[in-house]
Amino acid sequence: MNPSPPDLETLWALPLPELIARADEVRRRRVGDGVWLRGLLEFTNRCTQGCAYCGIRGGNGRAVRYSLTEDQIEATVRRGWDRGFRTFVLQGGEDPDWTTDRLCRLAERLRIILGDQGALTLSCGIKSREDYRRLAEAGANRYLLRFETSDPELFSRLKPGQTLARRLEALQDLRDGGFEVGSGFLVGLPGETEETRRENLRLCASLKLHMVGIGPFLPHPDTPLAGAQPGSMEDTVRLVALLRLLLPEANIPATTAAGSRDAGGREAMLAAGANVLMPNLTPPGAREHYTLYPGKVALVRDGAEDLEELLAHLHSLGRKGLLERGDSLAFLRDQ
Ligand code: SAM
Repeated sequence: MNPSPPDLETLWALPLPELIARADEVRRRRVGDGVWLRGLLEFTNRCTQGCAYCGIRGGNGRAVRYSLTEDQIEATVRRGWDRGFRTFVLQGGEDPDWTTDRLCRLAERLRIILGDQGALTLSCGIKSREDYRRLAEAGANRYLLRFETSDPELFSRLKPGQTLARRLEALQDLRDGGFEVGSGFLVGLPGETEETRRENLRLCASLKLHMVGIGPFLPHPDTPLAGAQPGSMEDTVRLVALLRLLLPEANIPATTAAGSRDAGGREAMLAAGANVLMPNLTPPGAREHYTLYPGKVALVRDGAEDLEELLAHLHSLGRKGLLERGDSLAFLRDQ
């Protein structure tokens, strides 16, 4: 039996060390000491969208653009598979060359490598309900689509031409399509208030997300938000701890943005309830151009070649790196 959900107002008032201790305890009890390792592939940085916070927004003429070929993606997944990775996350900008037909053909090709043991996660923005259905049929299992902020006005200001309502509809379409669904938000967007942050948490809980990714907003110099303050690490840690308490069986990554904000950012998230890491498998020559924000960490630990080092590092934190597909318990419970 699941205990009744904790009251957000009560939790919000807790001092940070107590909140972290509670979240860590719930993480250990509900999802264990394992840290699922997902191979991340940033397959294109071409994008038609104009998100004010994002370094690969279409309007940034200074970004060096790339798109990997199917052969490059397949070879990278195969290398990762041979290293032991069983989950691959394909993330990209909203690139019109990557039509749903093309993504479906790619998913079918990758499914041959993955068989039943591997999971394929996509993160390529809003598509129609029918497109999501076809992607699931072609072999994609999971989808990441952050709602970014629960404040509808702030959302439309930062994502011109888009609405929060449409984003939430897409999340419902993904769930109806059978996907394991991940969403989440940016921490510290200019214009966000404490109430926005609480509402971000309430929205994650009411969406009953299977995976929740959050990270500090980091201002990119070639965007309209160049002069803004970055999101704070303390807020990020507090929010990840609250998420673990609100969604005890969700998979929650310690994100690259947190590691880029602070040298120990990912470790701080792991200590506050996170249970997923996404080592970057994007080939050199491309990965340095997937610049959503400046100072993106390219720790040696991020490479598949340094997997042993990463496993040892996690061991030193009292955790165990796991390569199996690691379906979210929240998702399995929904089935
Ligand atoms: N285009 C897809 C989408 O919008 O869902 C996926 C790619 S998008 C670049 C991936 C995520 O990067 C976004 O959901 C956003 O939260 C994050 N991101 C973009 N710019 C960022 C920044 N300046 N700081 C931190 N995270 C950022």
